Amino acid sequence: MTSDEAIRLDRVSRRYGGGHSTVTALDDVSLAFRRGSFTAVMGPSGSGKSTLLQCAAGLDRPTSGSVVVGGTELTGLSERRLTLLRRERVGFVFQAFNLLPSLTAAQNVALPLRLAGRRPPRDRVREALRRVGLADRARHRPAELSGGQQQRVALARALITRPEVLFADEPTEALDSHTGREVLTLLRGMVDREGQTVVMVTHDPVAAARADRVLFLVDGRVHDELTGAGADAIAARMTRLETVPC
Ligand code: ADP
Repeated sequence: MTSDEAIRLDRVSRRYGGGHSTVTALDDVSLAFRRGSFTAVMGPSGSGKSTLLQCAAGLDRPTSGSVVVGGTELTGLSERRLTLLRRERVGFVFQAFNLLPSLTAAQNVALPLRLAGRRPPRDRVREALRRVGLADRARHRPAELSGGQQQRVALARALITRPEVLFADEPTEALDSHTGREVLTLLRGMVDREGQTVVMVTHDPVAAARADRVLFLVDGRVHDELTGAGADAIAARMTRLETVPC
């Protein structure tokens, strides 16, 4: 692993079940994600996108192969160490924003630090909200915020620990296209201005076009990739993949 890689997967496979009913969700995948890069992961339903994210983020354990996050090899880590790594070195945003409804925006953002047993410095929480354009919404509860604002709170929460990698699983799926674009612009800015590493699963070629690199998964393997491609080229590649003969 070279120091400009935030994360590396070496020959990672993830199988579910056993015997005749074994499903190979990831099949011998080797990948590296450079620090400060923005990668989109696309592929037909069932191609292994979520499994890839979960294995890379330490939420799931590969059946074989190794995952290294910021120089730490995940294979063989105890559950406790893996939980600590997930809390402190990896950020996650989901399609459903997963905020706690009874907490304010500021309390939601501070949660990862509290879970890590640290007292959240108030100016750090305020700064995190400012970075996502919500400095004036710190005391609002999720129900008092729009979908786009809730996703931005989720983004601030994911970034409060300054993670090596931010994983985003269809972060714009539940948003209208205008609000979705705003969230993507925020992600892009965090990559460009702060050197954040982002890995995002999406179905949307327009969203994927904001990334530097697009990976296409088919049947648990990286079938193809595009660099610096526009939405039309990405959509054309997706259409072709969906008609790949099995
Ligand atoms: P995608 O995110 O691209 O839709 P997934 O990573 O969710 O794909 O799934 C890849 C394959 O692994 C699919 O065939 C899916 O049915 C299977 N799979 C995923 N999770 C499980 C599980 N917990 N148990 C059994 N099979 C699973």
